Amino acid sequence: MHIKKSVQRESNERGFFYVIMVLILVDGIAGVKRLAGGIIFDIMKYSVRDGPGIRTTVFLKGCPLSCAWCHNPESRSAGVEMMLFPERCINCGDCSRSCPNGVIAGPAGKPVITWRGSSAGKCDHCGGCAAVCQTGAREVAGRKMTAAKVMAEVERDIIFYDQSGGGVTFSGGEPLAQAGFLLELLAGCREREIHATVDTTGYSPLDKLLQVSEFTNLFLYDLKVMDQELHRKYTGVSNRLVLDNLRELASRRKNIVIRVPVIPGINDDHGNITDTGRFVSSLPGVNKVQILPYHRSGREKYRRLGLEYNLSGLSPPGDALMDNIAVNLRKFGLEVQVGHQTNI
Ligand code: SF4
Ligand code: SF4
Repeated sequence: MHIKKSVQRESNERGFFYVIMVLILVDGIAGVKRLAGGIIFDIMKYSVRDGPGIRTTVFLKGCPLSCAWCHNPESRSAGVEMMLFPERCINCGDCSRSCPNGVIAGPAGKPVITWRGSSAGKCDHCGGCAAVCQTGAREVAGRKMTAAKVMAEVERDIIFYDQSGGGVTFSGGEPLAQAGFLLELLAGCREREIHATVDTTGYSPLDKLLQVSEFTNLFLYDLKVMDQELHRKYTGVSNRLVLDNLRELASRRKNIVIRVPVIPGINDDHGNITDTGRFVSSLPGVNKVQILPYHRSGREKYRRLGLEYNLSGLSPPGDALMDNIAVNLRKFGLEVQVGHQTNI
């Protein structure tokens, strides 16, 4: 059905209209070069965690927040970076010989498989060492892609989106950190009639968010901590912009599902949950909340990136705590789901 549709679409003028729209928006937003593409760090197929139905999730790199519990630390930096897996290294020295900057050359010609490299030079993330490493001890996190390439990947599973009520989710990082690129991708979805979800921290200039909202079918909008100082302490930024933007989107009747990551000892207390319930229930047209239990799956990535993980002693919340939070939020008349679900 969709193949037939897309053939028809190629010959009509709608596609041209969307491209023109995006050119105007991209130029107007961020000084981003026209249709220059962006940097992503993963494309996950058959996801059932990031919105309704079966989805492809496209992870864009770069995030203005630095949440202590982040399970995608490779998403924070806007640029390409290297990930190291020292346990896989067999000391063959191929990387050392290939590095143009002499970063990997250690004493006696041995490769230096630590994140800092040697003092001989500075890594510019060219990826050369990852390309020659036979064991996968060096990997590149992030790759540049054009919107057309991403959409070609996305389009392959259009039949699954049709059958399941799914689509594409743009996540990160913070996808709005590459607002021009995100707009190109969203316009590509609109042109192909693919449901588009944006998974956002809400930390973005309002004008960009509103432009993006014109092409977005559903926002998954994070509310992490309601107290401003605690928010700053655990995410690195104030939540004022996040809350103001959410009010604005809600006042425009955008389709929004709130997501609350439940981090024991940080935002699971009665006061924060009550404040969250009160705030969300005050928003016009916003009624759905997903509460997502903290998990530790990202811990290992910190080591691979040479970063420190500060929540190593923290355990995921138990079922009783999650149920209790759900009960408290429901008192505000909210529809609450525990965990990622596809029927949102
Ligand atoms: S190429 Fe890979 S396996 Fe060989 S020394 Fe370098 S990191 Fe180790
Ligand atoms: S990414 Fe490039 S510069 Fe950095 S260590 Fe590898 S080969 Fe050297």
